[in-house]
Amino acid sequence: MSQSCSIQTCKCTSRVLCQCCNQLFCRNHFMEHDDELNLKLNPLIDQINILTDRLNTFDINKLRNDSLKKLNKWRDDCHRIIEDYYEQKCEELNKFTYKILDRQREEIDKIRFQINELLDKQEITYDDINSLTLSIDRLKQNLNEIDQLSINVNISPYKINKELISFNQSYLQEFNLLSILSSYSTMTRLNKSSIALVSNDQNLLIHQNSNLCLIDDELTIIKQKEWIYDSIIHMCWSSILNSFIIITAIDIFLVYEDLTLIQRIESIEGRLWQSCACSNSSLYLSTGTWDSAIREYSLIPSIKFVKHWKITQDKTQKQRIDNIIYNNKTLALTINNSINQIKSIELRSTETFDRLWSCQLNIDYNETVIRCCLLSHNQWLVFDWKTCKILHITQDGKVKESYTYKTEPLYVNFFRSNILVISTNKDINFHKL
Ligand SMILES: [Zn+2]
Ligand SMILES: [Zn+2]
Repeated sequence: MSQSCSIQTCKCTSRVLCQCCNQLFCRNHFMEHDDELNLKLNPLIDQINILTDRLNTFDINKLRNDSLKKLNKWRDDCHRIIEDYYEQKCEELNKFTYKILDRQREEIDKIRFQINELLDKQEITYDDINSLTLSIDRLKQNLNEIDQLSINVNISPYKINKELISFNQSYLQEFNLLSILSSYSTMTRLNKSSIALVSNDQNLLIHQNSNLCLIDDELTIIKQKEWIYDSIIHMCWSSILNSFIIITAIDIFLVYEDLTLIQRIESIEGRLWQSCACSNSSLYLSTGTWDSAIREYSLIPSIKFVKHWKITQDKTQKQRIDNIIYNNKTLALTINNSINQIKSIELRSTETFDRLWSCQLNIDYNETVIRCCLLSHNQWLVFDWKTCKILHITQDGKVKESYTYKTEPLYVNFFRSNILVISTNKDINFHKL
């Protein structure tokens, strides 16, 4: 039996079954239906064109710049290691060569001394002459041999493990505060230890039992050096000086990467220092007073005072800068404002010191220290001692998440970009992200 067209107002008998939507149409309505489908394709074509344009004009540098910077830094560091090793081997080669010649020189001196002695005594015998002639012949022979000598250099080819550098992708939203609920390792803090922590690309530096200790990513102490100075208040790393900078209440010290040398920085006057951070050219310092200020010092060619930055022009304000972190031409500052009874974190340009954003932290006010550390993608973690609060701050300065830690987080460091190290009253906790 023939069926009618599926268009309700149409009385015609259907002639065609549309395969794609399984509807019956009369001749005219099928043509209309077919055109309609064709028209629906146009906006999709527009969309795919827009997406193609978007992909073609995508700023590839924005995506890869941070990683490229890390890669370049790795290359520079490796060049430095090879350069140092080369210098060391040149010196060894020098010593090795001189040693061969020095032995003959000593022999010559010895014979000359014997001759002079004989001349002085005027008691020369034939035996002396024979013995001297023998020695000189031997020396001649030695020098002839040296003429034929070559120094072999045994060099193993320098191999780079292909797994040394690899890439993977991560998205901004992936970081999750809950992942730090449990620590994967804990180290008990011994007597006479500072809560301060700092890391460079390689190692974490802590202070335990009156010693500075370098720890690798297996959490093994690989080097120690006795610390005979005042209590450590804060530490930071300077890649340009290849040294840690350690501040005590009064003095500031430069500590070589391998802890071989500890040197007081004499050009910085004593103050109640609180926090430090380094860019490639400057050292930034804040004090534990309510002076609302940061002092900038040059690092090279020498450590010298450059500028005094005020975070507010309002003289009635009492603000203490608890923590400074340098990142990519900006400084993140955690600020305790005792007049307004507010704690906040703000980001400032190191070129103009203009404030780029400020984020007021919704935590019960107290005077204890508030610290922060840098996460990937220019995000921040803020830690409040008294309330045990940890806040995740986005790259544009908004609180994303808040979490209460099991005990007071006194000092924090983000080590090897996947280990969050938190120093507490009793322990140092390691959390793998
Ligand atoms: Zn159809
Ligand atoms: Zn019809």
